[in-house]
Amino acid sequence: MLRIKRVPTVVSNYQKEEAEDQKGCGRNCLRNCCIKGAKLPLYTYKRINKIVSGKGLLGHEDKEPPVAFLDSLLLGEWEDRMQRGLFRYDVTACETKVIPGEHGFIAQLNEGRHLKKRPTEFRVDKVLQPFDGNKFNFTKVGQEEVLFQFEPSEDDEVQFFADAPIDVENSPSVVAINVSPIEYGHVLLIPRIFECLPQRIDRESFLLALDMAAEAANPYFRLGYNSLGAFATINHLHFQAYYLAVPFPIEKAPTKKITTLDGGVKISEMLNYPVRGLVFEGGNTLQDLSDAVSDSCICLQVNNIPYNVLISDCGKRVFLLPQCYAEKQALGEVSAELLDTQVNPAVWEISGHMVLKRKKDYEEASEENAWRLLAEVSLSEERFQEVNALIFEAIAGGDNGNGNGNVTPQPPEEFNPIDKSSHPTMVVGNQECLVLQ
Ligand SMILES: [Zn+2]
Repeated sequence: MLRIKRVPTVVSNYQKEEAEDQKGCGRNCLRNCCIKGAKLPLYTYKRINKIVSGKGLLGHEDKEPPVAFLDSLLLGEWEDRMQRGLFRYDVTACETKVIPGEHGFIAQLNEGRHLKKRPTEFRVDKVLQPFDGNKFNFTKVGQEEVLFQFEPSEDDEVQFFADAPIDVENSPSVVAINVSPIEYGHVLLIPRIFECLPQRIDRESFLLALDMAAEAANPYFRLGYNSLGAFATINHLHFQAYYLAVPFPIEKAPTKKITTLDGGVKISEMLNYPVRGLVFEGGNTLQDLSDAVSDSCICLQVNNIPYNVLISDCGKRVFLLPQCYAEKQALGEVSAELLDTQVNPAVWEISGHMVLKRKKDYEEASEENAWRLLAEVSLSEERFQEVNALIFEAIAGGDNGNGNGNVTPQPPEEFNPIDKSSHPTMVVGNQECLVLQ
């Protein structure tokens, strides 16, 4: 079994009091003890007609929405929680700078994020692990940490209800604050929260995340996902998102087209970037893009390959990055110098937003240092091509009969990446990591 030690990120003020009994917890949580009669804002969005075109998403023009989703609702509610003192520190006071150089890596000094909390052991050799109701999960957060319910509309209208009952039976998706934010508006999207899904991508949940990016309609509002083994710390399905008004280095990386699927989704490979990854964009509909990415994620999960996902450009562009840093860390293959920084290379770091815990690292931040760290995260070229072959086999084969695009043919049995590479076994290392999820 491969494990690493890290200080878990505290995403909820209720995370510490983990094992508590269910009866009348008095914390105003989302479980049976407290949910009765509870209300939360509800925002419903239009799901149909969202065609990805060169310019943007159609079906967004019609009427003024009842509330501006990003600016008023999400960021407004987030700021309200900041005023109410729910965050562990003031992220808006954290220093941030763009590191000089070709790529424009962004460095943030965040000394508050890891304060206190003992390092915890995390198993990093299993991308899929069952949900465990005894561990912290998002039904245990306080209702005041939840900003609103986010649901597809039933009547094709964007609607907003400031005070809607919580329909536990229908398990709404919700948006909650992350009490250890790394940027302005840092939130968690928790699909169908009461279903208590483990951290794993499925088609419906991924489409929800793309829908949220489209609804926000601002390229500076991105969503991210970390699988288990790729620095997710909570095994309850969630995406993260925040607003940061600079381009991420990963978004500027050149790409080389590999193929276009039947649904019009173009898949490319990133070039000149320290972490190897695939870029998915276009598609006749948002659903086409969503299915191509989620099927790829499912393939990685089934093959036990940790990965991160960045949703960019209002949901029109998605980066998929298989990674092996935690595995290397557990195997003792990461240098002490890198480990000492305690930087956990999860989706935001991989995208070029480096959250640094030590003033020294912040002051000495350079493109070379950022590159050196991220290069350790990446699969080797050989392994990356093996993984790509698995992905293309999965999405071109398609289990629904409509997924067979003109993918570069890959001989399916030529290798068995799972057996061959560094993949399966893991080991115990010790170190604290940092990023969140
Ligand atoms: Zn309760």
